[in-house]
Order: sequence, then structure tokens, then C-alpha cells
Amino acid sequence: MTNMLILGPPGSGKGTQAEQIAARLGIPAISTGEMFRAHVDAATPLGLEARKYLDEGNFVPDSVTNAMVRERLHNPDAGGGFLLDGYPRNTKQLEVLDGILASLGTRLDLALQLTAEDGELVERMLSRARISGRSDDTEDVIRHRLEVYYRQTEPVAAAYAGRGILLQVDGDGDIGTVTERIVAAMRGTGLEL
Ligand code: ADP
Repeated sequence: MTNMLILGPPGSGKGTQAEQIAARLGIPAISTGEMFRAHVDAATPLGLEARKYLDEGNFVPDSVTNAMVRERLHNPDAGGGFLLDGYPRNTKQLEVLDGILASLGTRLDLALQLTAEDGELVERMLSRARISGRSDDTEDVIRHRLEVYYRQTEPVAAAYAGRGILLQVDGDGDIGTVTERIVAAMRGTGLEL
């Protein structure tokens, strides 16, 4: 059983890789960004609240995000392992996640960080915008999301590095190449795959 998460700058492909890796491990990929977008599309009260933050590339308030993740991780399908994508994004969320996992009698095994150059990230998001039309994929919002990532989420990666559970993988290359790189790096940790 593997409890893991993936982090990386916006545009690093973590959502795509999360799906690939979770499928291999037979565990659910839990993406907070996807959960928020589903709420926005369904115009739920949470979606109406979250929308203004998403559109501006800001974090949804921790109180909303933490409650959503807590509920999701209590779902029985997460009991056999999970791959969190997009959470925690700041050190407060990291502390909350520790508490949620402790109350479930479990803990995190691995934090996988995808790395990529800023220029490449901006380019990928702009081309994704032309295809998917995601409301937060405009150049100004993209640059803002990158800034927020370096300021708030890098310290999360540093904290996991301090615990000895951070695994960094280069996110440059096509989807299959990066997946194989992740699988090879994970094998090196001795975690089951
Ligand atoms: P990306 O990594 O490309 O920014 P995501 O789908 O992971 O895309 O996230 C999209 C947006 O969803 C974020 O910009 C933010 O507004 C919101 N969001 C996702 N996860 C969190 C989180 N853990 N805390 C607060 N807001 C979040």
C-alpha cells in the first residue's frame, strides 16, 4: 500500500503523471484542482466560492480546501493507498494533512516532485490554453501561479526533503518518457510499484 503525493509547478504535467502512476499502483489519484473544477462546472456552493480564486490563480482558502481533502481521504477507497495531486500547497496544509493521516492511523510514504524550467512551463500552459480553454491559463495568471508556487509550495517540498521522503524527477520530455523516469526513480526507493 502506498500513500503518496505529487507536487510540481503549474504546467509540470503532474496531473497527467498522477493518473499514470495511480493506475499502475491501483490507487485513486485525488486532484484538488480537478475537484474544484468539477464543483465550478456543477455550480455547487463550493464551486461558486472557489471560482474567483481559480480564475485569478490564487489558492482557494485553506478552510475550504482542508475540509474537502479531509472528507475525500476518509472515503474507503483511499484506505488502500492514494496519490494526492495538488495538496498540500503550503506549509499550513502540510500540517493539516499530517493530522488527517494520523487520525486515520497512517502516514505519507513518498512526495514526488516534478521539476521543469519556467520557460517550458509557460509555453506548455499557453498551448494547453489553446486546446482546453482553462480559465486560469492566460499569461498573466500563469506567471502569478508560478510565483505563488515558488513562494508557498517550494517550502512544502523542502519540508518533505527534510523528512527524507522527497523524490525529485525531471519533468522534461514526452509523457511516456517522464512516466518511465518516475517508475525507475520509485523503484530505487524500494516502494512497491
Ligand atoms: P496547476 O498545478 O496547473 O496550477 P491545479 O489543477 O493543480 O493546476 O490547480 C488549479 C487551481 O486550483 C489552483 O490555482 C488553485 O486555485 C486551486 N487549488 C488546487 N489545489 C489547491 C490547494 N491545495 N489549495 C488551494 N487551492 C488549490
